[in-house]
Amino acid sequence: MAAINPVYLDNYGIINYHTHVFNHFLEESETMAEKSFNPFEMAQAQFDRVAEILDLDQGTKELLRYNLREYHVSIPVRMDDGTVKVFRGFRVQHNDARGPAKGGIRFHPMETIDTVRALAMWMTWKCSVVDIPLGGGKGGIICDPHNLSMREQEAICRGWIRHLAKDMGPLKDVPAPDVMTSAQHMLWMLDEFEAIHGQRLPGFITGKPVGMGGSLGRTEATGYGVIFTVREALKQLEIPASETRASVQGFGNVAQYAIELYNQIWGKVVCVSSWDQKDQTSYSFYKEDGVDLATLRSITDRFGGIDKVRAKEHGYEVLPGEAWLEQDVEILIPSALEHQITWKNVDKISKSVKIIAEGANGPTTPDADKVIHKRGIFMIPDLLANAGGVTCSYFEQVQSNMNYFWEKDEVLGKLDTKMTSAFNAVSDLAKKKKLYMRDAAYVIAVGRVAQACKDRGWV
Ligand code: GLU
Repeated sequence: MAAINPVYLDNYGIINYHTHVFNHFLEESETMAEKSFNPFEMAQAQFDRVAEILDLDQGTKELLRYNLREYHVSIPVRMDDGTVKVFRGFRVQHNDARGPAKGGIRFHPMETIDTVRALAMWMTWKCSVVDIPLGGGKGGIICDPHNLSMREQEAICRGWIRHLAKDMGPLKDVPAPDVMTSAQHMLWMLDEFEAIHGQRLPGFITGKPVGMGGSLGRTEATGYGVIFTVREALKQLEIPASETRASVQGFGNVAQYAIELYNQIWGKVVCVSSWDQKDQTSYSFYKEDGVDLATLRSITDRFGGIDKVRAKEHGYEVLPGEAWLEQDVEILIPSALEHQITWKNVDKISKSVKIIAEGANGPTTPDADKVIHKRGIFMIPDLLANAGGVTCSYFEQVQSNMNYFWEKDEVLGKLDTKMTSAFNAVSDLAKKKKLYMRDAAYVIAVGRVAQACKDRGWV
């Protein structure tokens, strides 16, 4: 029988059993053993902590700890076998005080509204910390594209847009790719949106194919952005990149481009992990002298699943899914899903680890974060580390609006500038106020959004 990945179950299996995660973060993390994980409560708890540091007034707190608007839709699709299947979808707009809501649309078989709510809130902080004029939103559709034809996926995309076309738009709410969605999905969604509105509106969506309004560098942007921040952290810690090894969770878009740039700055990735659809579990792939990106890409499916039989033939040691976390490396880059470094596995992080860069959204739970903080590991939190994607989305909107597209070097150069200055602002504040990097990033991000709400006269 296929093994069931415990991470997967933890993530979603008991997600609706609500608890007060944050109290445990402050006091008694061991009792988390009996509690479940609710990502939205985690996002609210992170916000509450910063609201206290910033001494936000009651009205602002109440406004920002909830989402402004959310939509639940049912999408009927005629399947290839002639039957009709109804898919559930969501869109959440957390805040648009600094600009239109912005954030990806995910396909996931275990998607929940609370995950989308958390991700929407995190988008608001992410856009704010890199200081781009956008708010935060997120979407999700409960489906597994592994088991859907392209025609069925197209119908889901168009159906989701038909429901939401009135409530989204270039000046309201702008989607983008995320977990298991691609440039092709974005183009179907744009086409449906433009058909409904009877005009060309390329600013409605980002992550479009290059040549169809997309930006060069968008595919690389999130992974490269992670490494721009890692490079800055290494500078600060005075560690040459060439003397470091990294272990990466995931082998999707973010992970692959993070590995690519990290190799270019002479770092060595010794371990990656990926989800195995057939076995319904994940595996880690280890190679002491460094993984070879081109080889791994050649044996990986479009969802980032590495073929383990062929990996063995290429000399990779195939280890259990969680082994990526336990390696003797200097850098850990979780780039898969939320809720991966928890109180259960945080103690397995090797003493050699100096930096954690969160390529994924919400990979570390607050109680695990507390342990990491205590151990003095340099944390580059998700809202900063993986902000390269949305920053490039913003560049894509700018280019679409001008109808003038930049060369790739120009896009990546601007991305580097933006990521480096956001990193420096956060680390300067962290040093000045003796704050943990996550708290410093939140203080800047939440502070700007709270100010925008105040300036508009909302609170
Ligand atoms: N889905 C990406 C993220 O979580 C990008 C969002 C966007 O480009 O709007 O940051």
